Amino acid sequence: MARPSAVVGTVLLAGLLGGFFSISTSRADTLYLKSGISLSVTRVQEKDGQVEYWVANTRYTISKDRVLKIEKGDAPATPTRGGFTGVQDLTRRDSAPSISQHDKVSLPHLSGPKQNEAYWVELRNRILTGETIDDQHLAEIEIQHDNRRTADAFFLAGTMEMQRGHPGQASGYFEHAIQAMPDRVDLLQWRAAALARSERYAEAALTLERANTLQPDSPEVLRLLGIARYNADRTADAVAAWKRAQDLAPDPGTASLLHKAERELQVEEKSRSKESRHFTLHYQGERTPPELQQQILAVLETGYQDVSRQLSYEPPENIIVILYTQKEFTDITDAPSWSGGLNDGKLRIPIGGVTSIPPGLERVLRHELTHSFVHSIAGPRCPVWLQEGLAQLMEPQSASAYAQELGPLFLERKAAPFSLLEHPFSRFSALQAQVAYAESLAAVEYLRGRYGMGEIVRMLESIGSGVEPETALRNSTGMDYSVLQERIGQHLTSGQ
Ligand SMILES: [Zn+2]
Repeated sequence: MARPSAVVGTVLLAGLLGGFFSISTSRADTLYLKSGISLSVTRVQEKDGQVEYWVANTRYTISKDRVLKIEKGDAPATPTRGGFTGVQDLTRRDSAPSISQHDKVSLPHLSGPKQNEAYWVELRNRILTGETIDDQHLAEIEIQHDNRRTADAFFLAGTMEMQRGHPGQASGYFEHAIQAMPDRVDLLQWRAAALARSERYAEAALTLERANTLQPDSPEVLRLLGIARYNADRTADAVAAWKRAQDLAPDPGTASLLHKAERELQVEEKSRSKESRHFTLHYQGERTPPELQQQILAVLETGYQDVSRQLSYEPPENIIVILYTQKEFTDITDAPSWSGGLNDGKLRIPIGGVTSIPPGLERVLRHELTHSFVHSIAGPRCPVWLQEGLAQLMEPQSASAYAQELGPLFLERKAAPFSLLEHPFSRFSALQAQVAYAESLAAVEYLRGRYGMGEIVRMLESIGSGVEPETALRNSTGMDYSVLQERIGQHLTSGQ
């Protein structure tokens, strides 16, 4: 959710001058939660089935069954200034693009043509000119009116474009294949996968519904259909498909998706929804007064305009925003009760019982919204430092508040390497995560200042088409990660 606030961040970083990996002073306790998050707290104790802990002078409680373990005297104390915001930021569970947190639930891998078999090798040679798929050659196959061969040729072209990270082109090829052989379930599944990769979930669900009509008892089709419907914001229909799949062939992955969706549905059944130009807002009428609904949509739309202008991009589908009470939010997301928001493909915001926009919500919304944009451009392989750096930049935040502490860390090579920051921050201690967020922001801010946002967007697109993040950085800037660290260090210490 939100970033480390400037005040808290600076105080934390000041205690960190020893470097990212040298946090070993014994001044406070660490609370490990089952959700994978660890918190550095001033004091912690068990009481009446609850765990009580203090951050500075403020007491918080959490249900004992959410706690994995408590380690005494193992982490540096959380600073006393700035209150709670700094810790709240560390509860972000959405910082993991490679797992399902920023993602919509992704479709599992489908098996394609066996490209080493003679039949497919011949067809592959036929449709390629060099390494490029030649549409002229595909058209020549098509006019021979051999439907099976036409379908296979376009099928092959589609799977090749999928491998190359071009789902838009792939989807067009699969469509051609389906025109030639409308009843082939494998073609429909692949087209749905391509549509889903382009975030066209509603069309993906329709395609799989056709597959389901052709093969009503295929657990595989039903599982995919559930995923597409879930991502298309059709939770009740998703539950129906997954239940049927489980009746036919129980599967633990589907069981956990079903469990999550059923909990969401309990809330959704009490909810109403409202559409704005770019958002679908789910809320509970009696708890969310109409003025507040309008205000939230207005904040979202303003944020959307700004982020889309800066990135010169608009995601293809409406962004789903769900308002929860604090308790529902905790139950559904497994995030600790103090989380400010979460983006797991849908923006989930705990905001129950308020009548006006709470301070800080605008930043949370803009931050989470940016994650949707970035995911839409770069896909699931976007490194976390780039995701979190952009999200903080759009709030808007600046790394200048951290310059004094962060500059020397970079120059003395004591900062966390960006290769490490490609992966989720959730496994870091509280302090390490603070530094990780600050480094991410400093990097993106530096890149924008030096190369412009357009170049960052090109990097995102390049990562989206399958290029490794550090290679994308090098292609855009000529720098690898270690040079980037040095340049940011110089930039921050030069006081510009
Ligand atoms: Zn974030």
